[in-house]
Amino acid sequence: MRKYVLDAHTHTIACGHAYNTVTELINAAAQKNLEMICITEHGPDLPGAPTPLFFANYRVIPGKINNVQLLKGIESNIIDADGSTDIPMAFIDSLEIISASLHTPTFKPQTKAINTGAVLGAIANPQVDFICHLGNPTYELDYEAILQDAKKYNTLIEINNGSFFIRKGSKPNCEWIANRCKELEIPIIIGSDTHFASDIGDFPYVDKVLDAVGFPDELIINLESKRLIDYLESKGRVLFADPREYAQELFLIND
Ligand SMILES: [Zn+2]
Ligand SMILES: [Zn+2]
Repeated sequence: MRKYVLDAHTHTIACGHAYNTVTELINAAAQKNLEMICITEHGPDLPGAPTPLFFANYRVIPGKINNVQLLKGIESNIIDADGSTDIPMAFIDSLEIISASLHTPTFKPQTKAINTGAVLGAIANPQVDFICHLGNPTYELDYEAILQDAKKYNTLIEINNGSFFIRKGSKPNCEWIANRCKELEIPIIIGSDTHFASDIGDFPYVDKVLDAVGFPDELIINLESKRLIDYLESKGRVLFADPREYAQELFLIND
């Protein structure tokens, strides 16, 4: 198995249907020697999800805890056929990583053309860094069109380890997607989609799919945290800002 150093997709108790705090996730990640995790909390339109203010105040969480780097972000919901999302744009500067997903409470499965158009709209949104769990058979999708646009817009494609047991029927779709990402040289990002801490950083099923298609290591973001940092910074994101530095500077000047 490859040595994965980061988990790009996790949830906390704040979303209403996951069961751990940020601290518990960090400690679980530290135990597994992960370098980095991304808190990608569900966007506010999903029932039970936090309000926009939750995302606005992310800056109070340090960027490194217990030797694990932390990126604070959102798994936004694709909410219409144009691919609009519920990213709280008033607080966009608080978000370090942004994914977009189709979820049934916020987007009912429709025709293949409509489902695909919604995903293409999200891919073209420069704020969206990656698209999650596309293998979900609940949504009929034109994967070729989606991957062509992912390449064009430099949007990452997630292979989601949780899909292999939560979204049954995802396996053949994930294999097809991984193989086509290899052919098109599209980088992939891997998420556990942890809703309980023991799953964090574990990608055994994704690993088997990557083996099956002979996926090249250089296109796997999760093998080096620098790959994710470089990708996000290339899109203009400011990472690991800590508001406490303001006070430190303030008192240095006055001393
Ligand atoms: Zn999701
Ligand atoms: Zn998720």
